[in-house]
Amino acid sequence: MDDDAKSEQLILVVNTGSSSIKYSLFHLPDESLVIHGEISGLGLSQKKHCIHLYDSDRPTMVVEDDNVEFDTHEQGIRAVIDVLSRFNQSVRPLSLSAISHRFVHGGEAFITPVLVDKYVVQQLEQLTHLAPLHNPSNLLGITLCQTLLPDIPQVVVFDTAFHQTLPDYAYRYAIPEQWYLDHKIRRYGFHGLSHSYVVQQAADLMGRPLESLNVISLHLGNGASICAIKQGKSSDTSMGFTPLEGLVMGSRSGDIDPSIPLYIQQKYGLTNEQIEHSLNYDSGLVALAGTNDVQVLLEQEQAGDHNARLALAIYIYRIRKYIGAYLITLGQVDAIIFTAGIGENSSEIRSRCCQDLEQFGIKLATERNQQILSQATIINDTDSAIKILVIPTNEELQIAHDTKRLLS
Ligand code: AMP
Repeated sequence: MDDDAKSEQLILVVNTGSSSIKYSLFHLPDESLVIHGEISGLGLSQKKHCIHLYDSDRPTMVVEDDNVEFDTHEQGIRAVIDVLSRFNQSVRPLSLSAISHRFVHGGEAFITPVLVDKYVVQQLEQLTHLAPLHNPSNLLGITLCQTLLPDIPQVVVFDTAFHQTLPDYAYRYAIPEQWYLDHKIRRYGFHGLSHSYVVQQAADLMGRPLESLNVISLHLGNGASICAIKQGKSSDTSMGFTPLEGLVMGSRSGDIDPSIPLYIQQKYGLTNEQIEHSLNYDSGLVALAGTNDVQVLLEQEQAGDHNARLALAIYIYRIRKYIGAYLITLGQVDAIIFTAGIGENSSEIRSRCCQDLEQFGIKLATERNQQILSQATIINDTDSAIKILVIPTNEELQIAHDTKRLLS
């Protein structure tokens, strides 16, 4: 096979953030990872470019560059293109099958991945106000790749799309209808790529068709959300109009009484931006105990720290409230999935989430839960009616998979 033909079997997945670019190159036929890279600190003083090379999903080499000389997103995308051909001689960036972009907020318009054209870019521009912290940089990634590699098909995959199956009584808020009609104020939900990836993995692990499964999926990372999945489709989720609603997160408040920001704004004379910043970056575990690192919180709690104890108690209590709600709304549940940094790595948090739920059919196997897990694993007791699973998430692979389906 000549090199161009090899490149035609490759997809580049790009996630452009405000100061970072994460990218993964996948081999299309078997969806195996070839290169994963992360550029961080764009526009900041400390920049870094880390490149991981793989052979059929097996890591072969890591290259870390702390002396990055570029500063803009355009230079970052140029560096990505350079990496593709520099580290893998058979990759021709000009012959890739597609470049696929993660896009956080697709609003109501985008319910499946789409090929980018002028009309799509115009529509994406109109969604900026729905996710001002994420969408503009996602869009910049697309337009830069269009400019630098104009002949490669560009695809957009949305983190909200999985939740477009929510029924109206789950996605509408009890607020004036005009707010919904004029400004599309409704629940959208996020982490859709992660929830859809892990539920498919769960179906494979359990040997069941996805459409037959009712699942509660807990994405517990620095951002966190929980999703009720009915017959393989999202039927409710804790994040809402923005990723601020729901669970207590690393630095986000999750659910609060909506009158609190208005009251505090008045009392302290704060601007909208200051309030938004406080709820997104100065709240959650950071506000309660000074760190978003759950491992540190568990150690501090052990040492008798009151704030760490309270932070973890609030964190777990909120998760259990949502598990309870989704047990009822789903009616019958086949599995609970733990995923993302905390869900995959902290047996203690998993144990606290599942404590004393035997009467609801949820029973952890203590030893299985405490194993170090690097792949999808069942951690429930044999007599647990509901399966409890730990499944490492892989949003990039989900994007590659969705893109492959779109292209075929
Ligand atoms: P993510 O957003 O999915 O990358 O997850 C990041 C979060 O996972 C961070 O808050 C980490 O502190 C947390 N994390 C990673 N490993 C562990 C662990 N062993 N125990 C508790 N939290 C962890």
